[in-house]
Amino acid sequence: MSVSPVEKIFTFLNETASVIQDARGVTYLEALAETGESWFLNEASDSLEPLVQKRLDKQYHEHPLENFKRDDLRKGFQLAVLKGMKEHIQPNHQMTPDSIAMVIGYLLDKFTGNQKQMTILDPALGTGNLVLSIMNQLDGKVAESHGVEIDEVLIRLSYAGANLTQQPLHLYTQDSLEPLFIDPADAVVSDLPVGYYPNDLRAADYELQAPEGHSYAHHLFIEQSIQHVKNGGYLFFLVPNGIFESPLSSQLHDYLKKVVHIQGLIKLPSSLFKNEQSAKSILILQKQGEEIKPPKQVLLAEMPKLSNGVAVQNMMGKIQQWMIENK
Ligand code: SAM
Repeated sequence: MSVSPVEKIFTFLNETASVIQDARGVTYLEALAETGESWFLNEASDSLEPLVQKRLDKQYHEHPLENFKRDDLRKGFQLAVLKGMKEHIQPNHQMTPDSIAMVIGYLLDKFTGNQKQMTILDPALGTGNLVLSIMNQLDGKVAESHGVEIDEVLIRLSYAGANLTQQPLHLYTQDSLEPLFIDPADAVVSDLPVGYYPNDLRAADYELQAPEGHSYAHHLFIEQSIQHVKNGGYLFFLVPNGIFESPLSSQLHDYLKKVVHIQGLIKLPSSLFKNEQSAKSILILQKQGEEIKPPKQVLLAEMPKLSNGVAVQNMMGKIQQWMIENK
């Protein structure tokens, strides 16, 4: 039986990560970030024991990166990340699956139809899978991306992923709700962390600070993202289905009406999520600016199961029609 390139890449990363994990006594994800970096550099770190280093070097040399395609590298790497994430389950750190990244990539492409080259920002970068799969999908349209992430292991994984897929991704390791020193992007894509933001002092700098108690991180992330996109720029957020039904939703809604035009809310099929409570939608916004008009109608839709090809085609047709009537 022939082995697919993605399987080959996964097996290679898995084996080399396990060697590093044993040698250093670190987590699988830390070891995976290291083997990703070393594979890109084509040499093992000299801080490893000489025998281990030699063994890994042999492996890297026997598997030249140039033999593999970009998106296969991303997928193989992603499988290894998923394996590592099973060891440490943290709901707010979960990688955005390819199916959702594909839908966001499609929407980004349609909404920015006439733009040849653009920059994107993801303030909740995680492993980088969302951004990197969109960059691969749009094949050169995203000239440059910027990603911010607070977790050091995740940012190292993004770094390795960006190098392996040769995508220009600029990384910032910091709390995204602290000031960001990044030029305004053409668009924002983000799978937002959902829940309370513990730093009330920092939250006080935001209009969407909760009137009392902790603020919602996802609301503050939306405000911060709007601050860092150009006028007329689009923002695509993965948000909880109930975002406009929470106790603070009227505050969010009033704020959005002032600064953006709400373009659409697309409910994703619940089969993509563990349960109804964790199901999400894609919220699409456009930052206000001179000559930027609101759509006549907000695009409200429910995405069918992605396995239902005909229904998905119909849905895309509906989105196309909406674009003709509203853009
Ligand atoms: N799209 C990502 C991917 O494909 O891997 C997954 C994003 S995950 C749902 C949300 C991310 O937000 C997590 O990686 C988490 O560490 C990060 N995060 C949470 N609070 C943050 C903060 N204040 N500043 C920066 N990143 C934060």
